[in-house]
Amino acid sequence: MTGRGAVLWAARRHHLHLQRAQSLTKAISLTTPTTSASSTQCLRRYATATQSHSQSVKRSRTIPIFITTAILGGAIYYFSSSSKPSLLNTESFIPYKITSREAISPTSFVFTISPHLQNPSLPYLTPSTSSWRYPLWSVEFKQPEVQIARHYTPLPPQEGDDPSDGSLRFYVRAIGGGEMSTYLSRLGVGRDVWLRGPHVGFDVPARLGGMKNVVFLAGGTGVVPAMQVAKAVLEQGPEAQVNILWAIRKRDELQSQHADNPVRQQSSWWQFWRANSDKPVEIHSELQDPSPIARQLKAMTATYGERLHIQVAIDEEQTQFRESDLQKAVSLARRPDLSLTRSISAPGCRLHDASMLEMAPEFETPAAPDDCKCGTGAGKNLFMISGPDGFIAHYAGSKRWLGGQQVQGPVGGVAAQLWRRYPWLADEWLVLKL
Ligand SMILES: Cc1cc2nc3c(=O)[nH]c(=O)nc-3n(C[C@H](O)[C@H](O)[C@H](O)COP(=O)(O)OP(=O)(O)OC[C@H]3O[C@@H](n4cnc5c(N)ncnc54)[C@H](O)[C@@H]3O)c2cc1C
Repeated sequence: MTGRGAVLWAARRHHLHLQRAQSLTKAISLTTPTTSASSTQCLRRYATATQSHSQSVKRSRTIPIFITTAILGGAIYYFSSSSKPSLLNTESFIPYKITSREAISPTSFVFTISPHLQNPSLPYLTPSTSSWRYPLWSVEFKQPEVQIARHYTPLPPQEGDDPSDGSLRFYVRAIGGGEMSTYLSRLGVGRDVWLRGPHVGFDVPARLGGMKNVVFLAGGTGVVPAMQVAKAVLEQGPEAQVNILWAIRKRDELQSQHADNPVRQQSSWWQFWRANSDKPVEIHSELQDPSPIARQLKAMTATYGERLHIQVAIDEEQTQFRESDLQKAVSLARRPDLSLTRSISAPGCRLHDASMLEMAPEFETPAAPDDCKCGTGAGKNLFMISGPDGFIAHYAGSKRWLGGQQVQGPVGGVAAQLWRRYPWLADEWLVLKL
């Protein structure tokens, strides 16, 4: 440091000390009543008095300052700690710890998290029960280093889980160059994550109304909302039916590839033959080496039997869902005994009029009993789609931006072709894009 620099630095330090002293006096003056003009003058006058007197004055001033500082410190600590919520909420992020992590493929994994502080009054449980309150919901995770947040969908509880312990499981794919998903993919067991929510999605039972069928086309991790919806709908009544069409890039999302698994040993000619002959794989009780997600899907098919049908198309093996697969799925759901008038919606019904839906965001407040304007027993079967933007655009048309939020937009893509070919679909089905 040069001599001039040192002088400047010392002057700045002195100035800073003065500023700090002044601001401390200011802070304290806000809490002590001794700073009126007259009392300040009094203090000045006392400063010219004898040494012993000034010492006793100093002592008598030090005690209130000490007490005031202690009270201030205590208040700041109390308010900062008591205002920090420990329960999941939609306003602030709260810490959870990763308690387990299982790799599925080189880019995808399932992990479980638990809140730092247990509290059974969780906002996503029906009060005094351990059942989930919403048929479709997600939470946001934040990336603390770059201050971004992204939504992730909890997997529904499995047989034997106790949701009231607050733990949640997620299926995540790390996207190349993706800030949040790459960050999450690098965190191991014991690390903290920050969550806010729950954010509530479409009110699926209210939109279904008196109808009973859901066809859910899911791309990759989009299968998680399909699992949430399947559980919610199938547990509503014995007539409900759910058909999940799950599109994945590689087989390892479905089956783990152990050395003894024939999947890995396939020669290229065999793969070529498979690619040109195979249909989508069905998930049933015989599925070998299921991945953690397929294991849960398999358990769900065991629970719900024929009411839950799950097919998987594998991009790498050229099994894709085509228009004919979607047609088959919606046609299977058609009940010949159904009186058509029950499913035609009233114009302006926010739940069942397709033109109203075009302007709806995917997050909505649960429906009130009088939200449906179509009459008793009305409703629509649901064709739901979830996955990457390109996947949704291809099968059902892109979502749109309206007034700063993403809304459904018109039905496009493969679904629009199908709807044009079979006009009765528009009367019986609603398309919901997630
Ligand atoms: C309601 C809701 C629930 C969700 N639930 C899950 C979930 O359970 N599991 C999960 O893994 N993800 C889920 N997502 C997606 C997730 O929120 C993030 O968008 C995703 O993880 C990518 O975030 P990122 O910060 O890593 O990528 P970004 O930094 O935001 O994006 C990086 C690049 O990747 C592209 N990109 C973004 N997403 C995808 C994608 N899915 N496939 C291909 N390219 C993509 C972007 O266009 C961009 O070019 C959900 C999204 C929503 C809205």
